Amino acid sequence: MPLHHRAHDAADATIAINPLYAQSGETQTVPKLHLPHGELSPDTAYQVVHDELMLDGNARLNLATFVTTWMDPQAKRLMSESLDKNAIDKDEYPQTAELERRCVHILAGLWHARGAHAGVGCSTTGSSEAAMLAGLALKWRWRERRRAAGLPVDTPNLVMGINVQVCWEKFCRYWDVEPRYVPMEGERRHLTAETAIPLCDENTIGVAAVLGSTQDGSYEPVAAIAAALEQLAASGGPDIPVHVDAASGGFIAPFLQPDLVWDFRLDRVVSINTSGHKYGLVYPGVGWVVWRDREALPEDLIFNVNYLGGSMPTFALNFSRSGSNVVAQYYQLIRLGFEGYRRVQQACQDNAMHLAAQIAKLGPFHLLTDGSELPVFAFTVDPDAGYSVYDVSDALRKRGWQVPAYSLCANLESISVLRVVVRNGFSRDLSDLLVDDLKREVSLLKHTVTAQPHAERQRFHH
Ligand SMILES: *Cc1c(COP(=O)(O)O)cnc(C)c1O
Repeated sequence: MPLHHRAHDAADATIAINPLYAQSGETQTVPKLHLPHGELSPDTAYQVVHDELMLDGNARLNLATFVTTWMDPQAKRLMSESLDKNAIDKDEYPQTAELERRCVHILAGLWHARGAHAGVGCSTTGSSEAAMLAGLALKWRWRERRRAAGLPVDTPNLVMGINVQVCWEKFCRYWDVEPRYVPMEGERRHLTAETAIPLCDENTIGVAAVLGSTQDGSYEPVAAIAAALEQLAASGGPDIPVHVDAASGGFIAPFLQPDLVWDFRLDRVVSINTSGHKYGLVYPGVGWVVWRDREALPEDLIFNVNYLGGSMPTFALNFSRSGSNVVAQYYQLIRLGFEGYRRVQQACQDNAMHLAAQIAKLGPFHLLTDGSELPVFAFTVDPDAGYSVYDVSDALRKRGWQVPAYSLCANLESISVLRVVVRNGFSRDLSDLLVDDLKREVSLLKHTVTAQPHAERQRFHH
């Protein structure tokens, strides 16, 4: 049973095939939960599935996701041309493998990996798989060091902010590593050097720093964290590496904040992941992980398989997947180049900052971030407004806008926010339409609040 099972589907539920497109002799219904006995024509099957999907949200109005919702038609064409190539068959599809290799090199260069053997890495299905691989490498290296010194290896831990994306929680649970989270406090909503160091000890496999936070789009101070760890090691403390989860920032900072030092320019940074399908501008799912050098990636995590012909090193959790996303990533890199990416990301940032400023002027909203790091910002509703962020989110949904509302993490669970992710394709025009809709919905909400007795309102809101 899928995890998102909808309880109201009876076992014999069917989809009626509209006579509009049923062809003569075709069945009139398709069972929802059983394999149909007979066949449909491709046209009818297409129409049934196509119509089911009409009720999905409009991807372009989805301000919740970080994931790419627009690509050139030429990119789509390349993707459909390469859907049938299995990315793992590197011997059969050497040119797809070559494009993957070039992408890794380009990213390693963008993140300032230097030297003859600098920058080894691979594509993944997304940042989550990339985080698993990078986390495993940290764990392996820590264990090798401990074993060599004759020390116990049974209680590894990973230090990070409570704001990390769920993939780090998963990494710790799946691979038996104790997560050590720094809670949020006051105005501090992510990891800092001062808060990370006290949690580090000889069993810390690494510190995971985020660029930037999914919670509010802010960057964690990677350089300060790295400097504090240098100092810890220099004063005889444990020698702890840094992994940077740059799921979004890996494709933003090099273009918009080129002077920000967060990457392999810092000696402590041993690996970096990014999501090709976020600001890498590729449809889901593709991610990347790059290690500083061979030494950062333990040899025994790499498997050599020979049953596809040749001997191919692989480091991945899964095996087969389409090569189309890797092809599309290479397309974007050569199509846009540095200047193209800079222009796209700058437009996102300009729109995000403009939108944030307009929202701040509406009155009941207070910005936590303004889009000046990631083109992402979070804002709260005035506690005296009489309505919540959830009401605002619901109200915007009426017009098709998807703006998520959620509560922050410990110790700021009592604060709830709305978050807007500005992506390629979100124009100034759309942003002005959103401000108009927000203005109107806020005045309607205000009206509802004054018109309803308090007890009634409570019931309505919960
Ligand atoms: C989105 C995100 C992830 C997970 O990435 P996927 O590519 O969706 O697997 C991990 N970390 C951060 C900071 C993210 O924003």
